[in-house]
Amino acid sequence: MRKIITQKYEVVVVGGGLAGVCAAIASARLGAKTALIQDRPVLGGNSSSEIRVPVGGACHGGEYRYSRETGIIDELLTENAKRNPTNCRSLWDHVLWEACKREPNLDLYLNTVGKSPHVENGFIKWIIGEQITTEKVFRFHALIFIDASGDGRVAYEAGAEYRKGREGRSEFGESMAPEKPDSYTMGNTITFLLKNVGKPVRFEAPDWAYKFLSDNDLPYRAHAHFYRNETFWWIEYGGVKDTIADAEEIRDELIKIVYGVIDHIKNRGDHGAETYAVDWIGVIPGKRESRRFTGDYVLTQNDVVSLRQFSDAIAYTGWPIDIHPPEGIWSREKPALMLHLMGRPTIPFRCIYSKNIKNLMFAGRNISVTHVALGTTRLMATCAIIGQAAGTAAYLCVKYGITPRELYQKRIKELQQLLLKQDCYIPGIKNEDEKDLALKAKVKASSQATLEPPEKPTKYEPLDRVRAQSFVVSEELLEAVYVLLRNSDSSPKSIVAHLRKGEFIDDFRSKEDIKVVETEVPPGENWVELFFEVELEPNNPYWIMLEPSESVSWAFSREEPLGTQAGAWNRLNNFDPLVYAIKRHRGTYLFKLKPESKPYGPEQVISGQARPERATNIWISDPSEKFPQWIELTWNQPVEFNTVYLTFDNNLDRPLWGYYGVAPELVKDYRLLVKKENREWEEVTYVKNNYKRRRIHRFKRVRAEALRLEVLSTNGDRSARVYEIRVYNE
Ligand SMILES: Cc1cc2nc3c(=O)[nH]c(=O)nc-3n(C[C@H](O)[C@H](O)[C@H](O)COP(=O)(O)OP(=O)(O)OC[C@H]3O[C@@H](n4cnc5c(N)ncnc54)[C@H](O)[C@@H]3O)c2cc1C
Repeated sequence: MRKIITQKYEVVVVGGGLAGVCAAIASARLGAKTALIQDRPVLGGNSSSEIRVPVGGACHGGEYRYSRETGIIDELLTENAKRNPTNCRSLWDHVLWEACKREPNLDLYLNTVGKSPHVENGFIKWIIGEQITTEKVFRFHALIFIDASGDGRVAYEAGAEYRKGREGRSEFGESMAPEKPDSYTMGNTITFLLKNVGKPVRFEAPDWAYKFLSDNDLPYRAHAHFYRNETFWWIEYGGVKDTIADAEEIRDELIKIVYGVIDHIKNRGDHGAETYAVDWIGVIPGKRESRRFTGDYVLTQNDVVSLRQFSDAIAYTGWPIDIHPPEGIWSREKPALMLHLMGRPTIPFRCIYSKNIKNLMFAGRNISVTHVALGTTRLMATCAIIGQAAGTAAYLCVKYGITPRELYQKRIKELQQLLLKQDCYIPGIKNEDEKDLALKAKVKASSQATLEPPEKPTKYEPLDRVRAQSFVVSEELLEAVYVLLRNSDSSPKSIVAHLRKGEFIDDFRSKEDIKVVETEVPPGENWVELFFEVELEPNNPYWIMLEPSESVSWAFSREEPLGTQAGAWNRLNNFDPLVYAIKRHRGTYLFKLKPESKPYGPEQVISGQARPERATNIWISDPSEKFPQWIELTWNQPVEFNTVYLTFDNNLDRPLWGYYGVAPELVKDYRLLVKKENREWEEVTYVKNNYKRRRIHRFKRVRAEALRLEVLSTNGDRSARVYEIRVYNE
């Protein structure tokens, strides 16, 4: 009989996908003794080299600005972007492995299946871990368990309540749900790679492969870009089966389908694949859906569509609701029904702990959401920030000896504040950390930039539909907005412009006009004055909307200053009935403000938020001034501190997955200086070649009346850009 090795931890995380990795790193970093148990030899779950799904999230591949996830997932993706120029999945596996190995409080158990929880009085006391490679059997004790394994075997075996399948439409009033409930889910997928070998190469399909004789057999399933394996996410099967109990059968079917699709691409019509050879075929199906464990709250379609602001928000989502027909590849319908969201809905803490197992939390796709809401929460960067929230909560539970539910009842604000301190973003929540000395300081800087919208159009967009442009104002009075319009008619045309307010910069939902003006557009290209003359609230976003007008078009540029957003009347979904609204899109409709806006002042670094939301929340130095540029915090009385948290700008509008290199906006070389009571500036930190958004500097405790960040250079930008400065005596 094998000896069982007892291991005692404070937090045990089961499952090493991105949710589990971020949960384990968060918990360990904060000081909880943590184990991460992963049944595969690599970390990353669906994003690993074994499955090869691209990491996506709220920014929807860069379509939505101000949305990319920060915190641990940003660190991991930044490291990958820097050292993995071809986005090789094996290098990504090891970026994750290294990040776990670096944490002194974290023990990683690869090739270890977590199972067989022992439950007493509603608490999991231990679970069994069986390591395939060493034949060792562990008994992992912990105070808090986080099941981040997707399928949730530990949670299921512990008796945690869960749901599986699709809710009926009436249960939560979800329009995208089927009329009647059923047991169907989204299906699994096997990915593959084709490689261009530079000469014609044949592919012989085995007789067991499915046959897709014409493109008609693959309706709506784009396959011309065969060289990108990601294109084949629609090779989906198993949604009408049980993605756990029937997993082996589903895998076998998927292999037959994959061979059939390759046969189609290579041998059934011209797909430009003559010189492409099979390079790799996955053997582990990627899973989208199985059990969803029930928490004290179940997140629904209506919550996410209405951008509900939960008081216990711990994360956010933003990818469109994206649900697939359970029949997968055998469905004649579109392979994905998509409904775009109008912003970043929050995810409440009550969705990530078990309703009936007292010390059990969830992270990743298995949290407490409906089938429809899973359509937006299942993205891997979203799973990662949920994971970081779970790990952070687990640490707090251990610290105070409480259950996750008690944490919700008594200390939810503390959890939210700790998440912000770790550079996580929670919409609507600001830094209120009493220990942060920066919040008590006065801030000044060497210079500050003005909002300078682009002046040269790359094209003109016809006012054949409503078009809109938002901007953050810094002054109390808005006299006028000038818009660059082209009237292709020989006589003047009239246009109607509305001025409205947003709750965040990319928010075009308001139907309430602050003022409406009508004016004439002369023939040709003209800066047309929209004379509003209204009082506004500084540091808030406003937007103008131009009604359709025949023969008139609005100048448009791809440049987009931070603190602005373009939008146009567009459809939000791809199924009946179509829903239309002003949808955010990249670029800028050309405008000028009178008076100019200066929304990037030094005080933004203590605004309490480290990304644009209502305000820009960033200090940007004047790009026409030379480096060094500085920003300075001063206190009325000298204060003692030894730690400074800096948050720079690594361009949250650019997806990090697939983007290689260091963001030019990032501060590169910089120093921290303190002014002690003798009033001499003294250097406490000097950094060269920074490539990270978040830096924490610890130094010998000082008593000082001022702190200065001196930016010596950036990675390309002409301005110093700093989102947040926090100062602590830790
Ligand atoms: C084909 C496909 C395309 C997709 N497209 C995208 C996309 O473009 N972008 C995007 O962001 N998301 C995409 N998704 C969704 C996304 O990949 C999943 O929702 C996400 O991976 C879920 O994350 P997770 O951490 O919960 O689970 P996983 O990524 O599945 O990680 C869970 C890990 O736990 C391990 N595990 C399971 N059971 C145990 C156990 N008992 N003990 C120990 N370890 C265990 C698993 O092996 C796995 O490594 C796609 C999914 C599929 C299948």
